[in-house]
Order: sequence, then structure tokens, then C-alpha cells
Amino acid sequence: MGSLANSMIEREDRYGARNYHPLPVVLTKGEGVWVEDVEGRRYLDMLSAYSALNQGHRHPRIIEALKAQADRITLTSRAFYNDKLGLFYERLAQLTHKDTILPMNTGTEAVETAIKAMRRWAYRIKGVPENQAEIIVATGNFHGRTTTVISFSSEPEYQEGFGPLTPGFRVVPYGDVEALRQAVGPHTAGVLLEPIQGEAGIILPPDGYLREVRRICTENGIVFAADEIQTGLGRTGQWFACNWENVIPDLYILGKALGGGVYPVSAVAANHDILGVFEPGSHGSTFGGNPLAAAVAVTALQVIEDENLVERSRELGAYFLVRLRTLHHPAIREVRGRGLFIGLELTSPARPYCKKLKDRGLLCKETHEMTIRLAPPLVIQKEELDWAFEQIAEVFRPE
Ligand code: PLP
Repeated sequence: MGSLANSMIEREDRYGARNYHPLPVVLTKGEGVWVEDVEGRRYLDMLSAYSALNQGHRHPRIIEALKAQADRITLTSRAFYNDKLGLFYERLAQLTHKDTILPMNTGTEAVETAIKAMRRWAYRIKGVPENQAEIIVATGNFHGRTTTVISFSSEPEYQEGFGPLTPGFRVVPYGDVEALRQAVGPHTAGVLLEPIQGEAGIILPPDGYLREVRRICTENGIVFAADEIQTGLGRTGQWFACNWENVIPDLYILGKALGGGVYPVSAVAANHDILGVFEPGSHGSTFGGNPLAAAVAVTALQVIEDENLVERSRELGAYFLVRLRTLHHPAIREVRGRGLFIGLELTSPARPYCKKLKDRGLLCKETHEMTIRLAPPLVIQKEELDWAFEQIAEVFRPE
């Protein structure tokens, strides 16, 4: 690595809190699926900022929408109406088939919003006694980093030293229908799940699990909230990963690619019987629903539709999965995924392999130490995937 990159890494490391452990590459440009470092080396981005770049880096239409809106008005606060927010609501309502949208900025904030909605719904609609509501979540979950959200993580590393934690959550094993059924009680507000667990290492639940979760929630009159922040908007080869089982949750939590890779935009979508629990003053965000975010999000969704990114993810993902499964190396334990959301689980730590891939011009990152997540922008071409496969095959060439 050259001295320019080194000096930038040193500066980041000197002044920044050490809450991340980045690979030693300093990026300065991005276009489509490709990024470039400060020394002019090009890399294929197979992480897509944890699926926030489904439309690719700097998609021209999204950048155009961003610039056009930046030239008009960027921030109004919700103290006033703006001429873009309604369009965003309408588009997202059509897409989710829900009648009410609540906009926020980051994914974690949208999860917090969902939790507040579920709790209020439990007290006001279901009649749970005050402060007794319980939300059921799954082992291995990742829903963000705020104090309440880490309170129901099953990862000690996420919680250690951050107590006291927020009560009111019950953790059951992911994929275990019986455990979920047993956990439901009179105070249960609902179930909050990722339809495929991303940060846990691309963990797919057993077939039929989501349908059973839906059935249990319906039978017990509780809310099924799907965190589709990472899995939604085409990533798994469907608009929503719940579609793989023809399941419609009561509440969608969206983020990441909703901002088209340029701006943080998140939202909760549900019907008025749930989101109607918020009256003025009960919840909000200075930046949530600002016109810049709304203009970007509308275009980000339109790009996914116009460029058939959902179908592309399904077809190219299936193709890539088949190719990856031809790799036989003692370090590869399992290859799994849906669409372009693929995990390569190894028998040893994944980071050294990610470093080797980086040296060959392919950027990816380990998740949960032993799994390499492969999730390129959905605009990737077949030839680029073939090139990525060759790099991976070289790194996992049996000796
Ligand atoms: N929920 C899921 C499923 C996620 O994958 C993430 C981020 O990785 C989040 C929530 C948190 O989103 P953010 O980092 O935008 O707060």
C-alpha cells in the first residue's frame, strides 16, 4: 500500500473511535459496481454497503434526482408540508400494499419506530396492561445498535457494558416454530424478525417458517413485523424476502437501498390500525421525511422497477450460487443464499480470505467471523459475476 493510503488510514485511526475494523483499502470513487482507491486500483464491490447500494454506486438517475432536489429545497422539518413527501408515501404504500407510512432516516430508527408502534398497539388496541407488552424476537437477530435494539440481541458483544438494557423482549430460536408458538402469551404485542438473517451470516429459516409465523400471529391476533432493511427491495430476488413464502407481514421495516446508496432513508409501512397509534407529538425526527430524502427514495424505487433489479437478482443469484457450489475446498463449509444475497460459510475465520480477495480486486467482508457475505449491487452484469467467481475460485483453489 502506498503512503497516501497509509496516511489516510492513520488519520482515520488516530481521530476516529475504533468501533469498526475496516479492510485496509481507501476508496475515493465509485460507479455502478466498481470502486476505486486513492492509488487508482479498481475493485468490484461485493458488499454494497450492506445492501444499501442495490442500485449501484452513483446511479445517474438517483444522482440527478438528488441534485435537482438540492437545487430547490432540502429540509423543511415536519412542522410544514413539503411537495415531495406525499409522492414518496404514495409510492411506498403502493409497493407494500399498506395504507400508512412513517419515514425515518436510519434502519435502527425505523426498528425503534416499529417497536413503539407495536407496544402502543398492544396497550390501546389489544388491551395489554400498561408496561407489560412483550415483543418476541429471534436468536441471531440484528436490528441495529441503539440501546433498546441491542437489549434483545443474543450477541453478548453487542451488549457488554451498555446496560441497563430495555426489558420487554423474549428471544426464541430462529427458525423454531414450536418455540415461537410456546412463547406467545396474553401480553405479546407481536413478533419482530428478519425473513433471512443478514448479519448473522445469511441464515435462511427452514421452508415454511415464515408462513407458520404468519399463521401464529394471525391466530393470536398479534403483529408480525418483518425487518426487511437488508433483505428488501430486490436483494433476495423478490421485492421482499417474505414474498418467497407468499407471506404478507403486518408491518414492513425498510431502509438501506431505499436511500439509493446516496442518502439515509428508512420507513415503516403498515395499515392505519397499527400506525394510527401515533398522534402529533408522540414520535418524530427532524430529518425524517425531508424532501431530499423523499425525492431520492422515489427515484431509488423507480430504478429498481425500471431496471428489473428484482428479477436480475433472482436470476443472477441462482446462477452465481450454482457456480459457487462447484467450489470444493476444505475451508468451505457451506454456500447458501437467495438472489444476490449469498453467504460462504467457512471452517476458519473469513478475514484472511477477504484480504486475499481484496488483493485480487474484489471487495467483500466477513460477517460473524466465519462467513463471507457476497452481495453485489443488483446492477451487476453476468460477465462481472463470472470475473468475481474466477477471483473466488483462485483464492479457494485446493492445494
Ligand atoms: N436491521 C437489519 C436487518 C439490518 O441489516 C441493519 C443494518 O445492517 C439494521 C437493521 C440497522 O440499520 P442502520 O445501520 O441503517 O441503522
